[in-house]
Amino acid sequence: MQYHLNGFKPGDLQVSEAVRGLGDPVQPPGLPNEVDVLIVGCGPAGLTLARQLSEFAGITTCVVDLKSGPMLFGQADGISCRTIEIMEAFNCSETVVKEAYWLNQNAFWEPDVARPEYIRRAHKIPDARLGLSEFTHSVVNQARIHDLLLAGMKNAPARSVPVYNRRLVAVQFDRDHSQDLDLHVVTASFERVGADPGETVGVAQAKPAVETVRARFIVGCDGARSTVRRSLDIALHGDSASKAWGVMDALVVTDFPDIRVKTFVQSSDHGAVMIVPREGGYLVRLYVELELLDADQRVASLDIEAADIIVAAQRILHPYTLDVKEVAWWSKYEVGQRVAERFDDTPLDNPHGLLSRAFLAGDACHTHSPKAGQGLNVSLHDAFNLGWKLASVLEGKAEPALLNTYSAERRAVALELIALDKTMSDLVATQPRAHKEATPDAVSTDTGDIEHYIATQNGFIAGTTIEYGPSIIRASGEHQHLARGFQIGRRFHSAEATRIADGRHQHLGHLIKADGRWRIFVFGDEHGPTNHSSDTHQLAQFVATDASSPVIRYTAPGADVDSVIDLYGVFQQRDLAIEDLPDFWWPAKGKYGLRDYEKAFHTTEAYDIFNERGIDEAGCIVVVRPDQHVAAVLPLSAHAELASVFDAFMMEQPHDPALIATRT
Ligand SMILES: Cc1cc2nc3c(=O)[nH]c(=O)nc-3n(C[C@H](O)[C@H](O)[C@H](O)COP(=O)(O)OP(=O)(O)OC[C@H]3O[C@@H](n4cnc5c(N)ncnc54)[C@H](O)[C@@H]3O)c2cc1C
Repeated sequence: MQYHLNGFKPGDLQVSEAVRGLGDPVQPPGLPNEVDVLIVGCGPAGLTLARQLSEFAGITTCVVDLKSGPMLFGQADGISCRTIEIMEAFNCSETVVKEAYWLNQNAFWEPDVARPEYIRRAHKIPDARLGLSEFTHSVVNQARIHDLLLAGMKNAPARSVPVYNRRLVAVQFDRDHSQDLDLHVVTASFERVGADPGETVGVAQAKPAVETVRARFIVGCDGARSTVRRSLDIALHGDSASKAWGVMDALVVTDFPDIRVKTFVQSSDHGAVMIVPREGGYLVRLYVELELLDADQRVASLDIEAADIIVAAQRILHPYTLDVKEVAWWSKYEVGQRVAERFDDTPLDNPHGLLSRAFLAGDACHTHSPKAGQGLNVSLHDAFNLGWKLASVLEGKAEPALLNTYSAERRAVALELIALDKTMSDLVATQPRAHKEATPDAVSTDTGDIEHYIATQNGFIAGTTIEYGPSIIRASGEHQHLARGFQIGRRFHSAEATRIADGRHQHLGHLIKADGRWRIFVFGDEHGPTNHSSDTHQLAQFVATDASSPVIRYTAPGADVDSVIDLYGVFQQRDLAIEDLPDFWWPAKGKYGLRDYEKAFHTTEAYDIFNERGIDEAGCIVVVRPDQHVAAVLPLSAHAELASVFDAFMMEQPHDPALIATRT
């Protein structure tokens, strides 16, 4: 992290310099009348979006929930590698890494062939996601992820705090003006369901029961029964036959040996249980699949208590004992595998390229079982995809058409997720093969099939192979061979390089903070950045001085040179000294013109990113979106193509000759 560019500011470095020393933000007295973005729901989707938008002081955001305060326990707990990468972009991965259970192994248990009423361990294998990221797939309470997002919101330039105790009841749109970005075309009505902080019930009751908020955009992060989705009349497609689940966080005494390993147990006659060890060494989560629900049946109508979930788990684990000493949280809930037909309010396929004014994210637009541990992750990733796009459009940096990429990109991921969940559900629900003798005609499976299937889906489950398709923010794959390890459409797969100025080893992916900026990584050629005839040097000249350079066209007058597009150089030459590099690679910034020494890197024997990521020795340009997905891989000499990547969606800023002077 970098600090003090525009003057020394003491205090907590986790607090943005813009607001450091100002103390905690004041809890809002209620709902605002008007905002740029109204977010409904404080789950992982809503809080991630609010966290992202809190980076932009000029954008007003309000996030609202019907609950009375932050979540304390329960719900999802699987934190994929990709989610931790995103938490790193929000500057809080260290806490997740420190607190979470790291998933290193998986165990599979199935009926003992000789004694099918007993279970036996079939396999215990390393988790196949190891190595897909610098982070390990982990498990921690969803509430902790919420806490970190809330803390980040509070410490960020916009200092946002949610408004609780408000239930969204209706949303109206001024459809006649929906294409005028400047207008607050959304009117949302909320009813109070409780008092505000510091307010007595009497005072709360004296206030109007219904309040309205006008917004330029609304985002429904309001869960599976989304009011925003219903108000937009967006249908959910998929399997409406829901399944009931029992889930429990417990402190247990057991002689089952794999209680501290993520374990899938399939019994002969009593169904399946998934054991997920939790943070802190003692807590464990049990997922017990219960019964199928009729089309109009709700899980709430089932007479299931915590004791029933315990008894079901005890039966499955036989002959091992399970003595539940304390239940920290339990729940029964239903899941259908469904996807919304659209994730925004434009018509299907949007033939006229209309602007979206409403979006759905998370469970509001896709629901599925917890088998692959994706509920929290995919919801958070939806919001991470949408947040920077909204910010870019609201800040006047990008064309509004950018927003239309959200639904296309994230709906494709949701469809893939539903397909995965269906296959997993079928595998889990079929009879174990060890039992096949008893019912020879039944479809059967064993834990090996489940293990094999999970292995084929690892990248998706880890979130590391999610690939966004062709769009205005994705170049063709023509030059992919120049950097085989940075796949276009997928997230930038971080690797380390050594900073030239001070020798620090730095994960390059960790330079891509969630601040709305684009990144260009220039992997230098074999002739090096100091050779004036090299492609690397020519590229630097183009970016710094040419009127068609995206840095020049899209950076506002007077702004720091890296305020919109942040460039880094990574060079093959291992004997480079910072003072030998052209100024371009250590630019002057801020009110004092301080040099930025953290933009130039080289490889070393131990940290050879060219080798690790298959980068051609001719070098290349890797363009990375603010959400860390690779938008383009280009040859160093492709100046016009580099410009056209940005010209496709960015809004030109007034040309400023002074800016050019600072780069040369
Ligand atoms: C009881 C329960 C248990 C779960 N257990 C697991 C699990 O064990 N493992 C797993 O992987 N996943 C589990 N999930 C799913 C997982 O929690 C979700 O996939 C994930 O939280 C989705 O995030 P989200 O932000 O989209 O929605 P949510 O987390 O559902 O958040 C939606 C928010 O919107 C608010 N809201 C809803 N309607 C309104 C309204 N009209 N006005 C204002 N606010 C509103 C809600 O109060 C809620 O805070 C569980 C979900 C539930 C509900």
